[in-house]
Amino acid sequence: MNQDNKDIYPIAQLGHAVLRLKATKINIEKILDDEYQQLISKMMLAVAKAGGVGIAAPQIYHSSCIFIMCSKPNTRYPDAPLMKPTAIINPEILSFSNKKIKDWEGCLSVPSMRGLVPRHHQITVRYYDQQGNQIEKELSGFLARIFQHELDHLNGLTFIDRLESSKDLISEVEWYSQFSTTKKN
Ligand SMILES: [Zn+2]
Repeated sequence: MNQDNKDIYPIAQLGHAVLRLKATKINIEKILDDEYQQLISKMMLAVAKAGGVGIAAPQIYHSSCIFIMCSKPNTRYPDAPLMKPTAIINPEILSFSNKKIKDWEGCLSVPSMRGLVPRHHQITVRYYDQQGNQIEKELSGFLARIFQHELDHLNGLTFIDRLESSKDLISEVEWYSQFSTTKKN
């Protein structure tokens, strides 16, 4: 990523107050308004430029209940499943498996760090899509992990708040050298 892109798509960094707010629910009847459709486009561009698999509106300084999931294999997550970038609006978790799995997460707002974060393995979720349709579905594994990570952002939490121990937080350099099958390019 070059400096120009960073300036066009700035990402709120840990310590900024916007990341600690509880985001405002969207009036779903207005989701087709330019204001929201443009916000969604901006988030999709920002996460693509940053090479992430998800981004929540507070991360681009909008405290609104929207996030993008865009899992795909990349240098940050070589084993991620491929999916079409999807806007998730007013998300909720309806139910979840008691089984939790610990796996590594990073965050565009917490640069250069990785954490071993426990998440529910399977969740049933409800949200609205970019056209305002209500969707209910079951997610598991990595997709369930992204959903929980991004939903936390809408509640003012980062993955660091979910760590069981500060020893589960390591530098990204160490993560790449110890755990990644793909070296950083
Ligand atoms: Zn994040």
